[in-house]
This record gives sequence, C-alpha cells and structure tokens, in this order.
Amino acid sequence: MIDSSLPDGHRFLRYIFQALRFGFESHGVDYEPAIKKIGKDIGASISSNFKSESLEELLDEITVFWSKNGLGNVKIDDTNPPVIIVDNCFECHSMPNMDKKLCSFSAGLLEGIIAGNTGIECIIEETKCCGNGYDHCTYKMVKQTS
Ligand SMILES: [Zn+2]
Repeated sequence: MIDSSLPDGHRFLRYIFQALRFGFESHGVDYEPAIKKIGKDIGASISSNFKSESLEELLDEITVFWSKNGLGNVKIDDTNPPVIIVDNCFECHSMPNMDKKLCSFSAGLLEGIIAGNTGIECIIEETKCCGNGYDHCTYKMVKQTS
C-alpha cells in the first residue's frame, strides 16, 4: 500500500521502486547483487554533494538527505562502528513480512556515499527490515579500511 502521508512525488517513486522489485521477483530474477552495486555507484556519484569531513558529520548529513528526499527517517546509534536505523524506509515500508531483507539499494547507496566522501571502504549490511518482520530497517557498518 502506498503511504499517503508522503508528498505525491515521493509516493509515486516508492510505488515504482516496489513494483520493479515485485516484477523482478515474479520473473525469478535475483536482482539484489545488481541493485546493491547500482546503489553504490549512485552513492559514489552523489558523494561530492556531502561536505562533511568526518564519518560522524557525514551520518548527520545523510540523516537530512534521507528525510528531504523521502527515503526514510534516519537515526544513528553512536556505537563504534555506528548503527544506522531507518523508519519509513522507501524500499520496504509497508511491505509484508517476506522473510527476507529487502533494502540492498539503500545499503549500496550508503556504501557509495561513505566511501566517496570519507575514503572509508565498508560493507553496509542490513540486519533488520520490514521485509523480515520488523517495523524499521537497521544497518551495521563493517569497515574494510579506515
Ligand atoms: Zn529494509
């Protein structure tokens, strides 16, 4: 179901994104690796728009970017490494429990923005998702270099 609390443009884009997901699944296409790579490429290409010089500041900027663009409401758990929590995620909010995590595009987008802005190569792994029965998404960050 489309979230009627969002501005029209955001609602429509969510609908299209989720329709593409169901379309690929209905044709038996394993789209997760490709969509994560596409997310990372897009993240790298937009990373120059983020001005922060530290990971902590960048995560604050990401919080604002996600909200402004209808991608979700981000909270950062300041552990080391940080945990990224997303409510109202554009990829999975209102999706039924499909017993799988769904937000590989977002994970790739985060990886690309972080690597492009800070030089930190990391794996962003979604650990909780609306797609596996939670009411939010949680991502953990595994640094590859610092
Ligand atoms: Zn999710």
